[in-house]
Amino acid sequence: MKKSIFISDLTHIHNGIMAATFPLGASCVYAYAKKELANKFNFKLFKFPSKLNESLTETSPVVMGFSNFEWNLELSYKFAVLAKARDPKVAIVMGGPNFPIDEEEKIEFFKNRPAIDFVVELEGELAFVDLIKKLGDYNFNIKELKKNEEKITNTCYVNEDHLVSGPISRIKNINIVPSPYLTGAMDEFFDHPLVPIVETTRGCPFSCAFCADGLDSKNKIYRYDIQKTKDELEYIAKRVKNISELSMSDLNFGMYKQDLVTAKMIRELQDKYNYPKTLDVAGGKNMPRRIIEVASIIKGWHLGAAIQSSDSDVLKAVSRDNISSSSYKELIDFGNSQNNIKTYSDIILALPGDTKEKHIESVRFGIDNNVSSVRMHQAILLTGTPMASKKTRIEHGLKTKFRMVPGTVGFYKILDKKHLIVELQEIIIGNNTLSEKDYLDCRIFNLIVTTFFNNSQFEEIFSLLKSFDVSQTDFLIYMKDHPELYSDSIKEIFRDFVSETMEDLFVSKDEARKHILSSKNVEKYINGELGYNELMENRISLIKKFDDSCDLIFKSAEGILNQKGLLTPEIKMYLKELECFVSIRKKDPWTDTDKVKSMTFSYDFEAINNAKYKIAPNKIGLFKTSSKFNFFYDKEQKKYISNQVKMYSSHTEGLGRMLAQSDIRLFFRSFSKSI
Ligand code: SF4
Repeated sequence: MKKSIFISDLTHIHNGIMAATFPLGASCVYAYAKKELANKFNFKLFKFPSKLNESLTETSPVVMGFSNFEWNLELSYKFAVLAKARDPKVAIVMGGPNFPIDEEEKIEFFKNRPAIDFVVELEGELAFVDLIKKLGDYNFNIKELKKNEEKITNTCYVNEDHLVSGPISRIKNINIVPSPYLTGAMDEFFDHPLVPIVETTRGCPFSCAFCADGLDSKNKIYRYDIQKTKDELEYIAKRVKNISELSMSDLNFGMYKQDLVTAKMIRELQDKYNYPKTLDVAGGKNMPRRIIEVASIIKGWHLGAAIQSSDSDVLKAVSRDNISSSSYKELIDFGNSQNNIKTYSDIILALPGDTKEKHIESVRFGIDNNVSSVRMHQAILLTGTPMASKKTRIEHGLKTKFRMVPGTVGFYKILDKKHLIVELQEIIIGNNTLSEKDYLDCRIFNLIVTTFFNNSQFEEIFSLLKSFDVSQTDFLIYMKDHPELYSDSIKEIFRDFVSETMEDLFVSKDEARKHILSSKNVEKYINGELGYNELMENRISLIKKFDDSCDLIFKSAEGILNQKGLLTPEIKMYLKELECFVSIRKKDPWTDTDKVKSMTFSYDFEAINNAKYKIAPNKIGLFKTSSKFNFFYDKEQKKYISNQVKMYSSHTEGLGRMLAQSDIRLFFRSFSKSI
């Protein structure tokens, strides 16, 4: 009988599916290993812990390979420990970016996790096959192989306290890797609420210090045959169920000439299958014209640039080159000129060299360039990145704390017992130039930007302020600095946000683990009362308190206009009606989608909507004319909302994630004048 080899890219599932995409990386390793060695071994691929446990209970494989990310290391390691305890002969292999780059730290990693025999660094396909072949040469005697210090491609291990590393090799012709879709390896995942993910290129020419893809060894770009991509896309479109999204793992999509061909293929798919409705892929940092051309072909690719910071010192400290300001502007202007495109920028708070002022200026840079969302991120010290090195920590005085990776705690049955498992991560909450107090102030600002500015949630107000020449960023700061305008419910949400931001953090991994897994707390973490993404969750809380949030933004608008001597009785009257209009369109967006609501207004909101809510102060009177309006969801909106709700209800932080990932303009009721 053939020996079994298991390959797993596990996800936590207790508070919804945490990593909600198809297991692309592991499936490529699986498909390649199967192509090379299927005559000798029986390969199996897993994403869900329960499925792995079923197979593990029946069989003891000779090799267990696991993807190693910060969101699944402990879960995978628990399987590894127990499988090895039952059968010490099973070889445990980890592969993925969550592994240090410093030699001493690598040895420490192995010491802390003695059940791991081998770690594959960089690409997994060649390494995994080489490892299996070499293990075969030693009749799967791990000790003998290590004793002989056998060199294995892209793989390291410890022998007698020192590290043995094999030669680094990247696949130049990645077409030797069979498609995991076309070979049927992914078929079972179409039955789950997972987003399909495809890869058309591998590698990134940039070198950002906070990113594992910035390493020199990954700088060359290799591309799959166009026909393979075409066939994969068609295969996926024919099989997706209740999923509107497609994800691509390319790191600079649109930057290369051949991406135009991919774009045309995706568009053909959209015309034929009405799928994908939205495309999630990182855009390139050069060649804005080409990116624009690509974006004009595909429907629903939201254009943006992950600038992370607009400050040159911060960028230098993380070895990052941003897209030029003129290219950035060109890109965002184009995105905004298209009806079906949202534009965004990503900003990371607390990178080395960051300050409160620099952070706010980075947000201002995005907003002044008219992006529709500024996506806020915390700086996570990812193992395996230069930013996590001792040198960077000391040089920039990084203050860090540990917390649970949202959605990654639960009881898992492994072999005959249930085990409590949690994943932890290290985030930066200050540095030489950013005090903890400033960090917290920036986080409060981030919640305000995320809730009130992003995703066109209150575009009517921001457009109005723009036509009055009031800075939108200053307005957001005004909202932050006027807590007396907050209702009791809003105050409570902000209080919760502050305590979750600063109190659910721990000085060490051990302290975090002890606290989270204590019998007093663990249920709260499992059912999502604690340990969630506080930005996403509190944004949802604010949106749910729609009347209070609406009241806050309208009062703040009146306040800032008054402060600038621009508030007239006419504008006050307009704001009053605009508030009712916004409320009837946007309150309770995913309930009662069949209901038609009506209201009479003394302003022509159809004309105002056509003017994109940019009305000069002296023109407001021109839009007066009393009409009744009906508010409703059209067929396409209903289908989109239903798909998104279904998809995200089974995910960790479902609603928060749904708002972050969806085109929420499709969640706002359509409206027309009643005849
Ligand atoms: S450009 Fe993106 S993928 Fe490339 S190194 Fe920088 S962050 Fe990583």
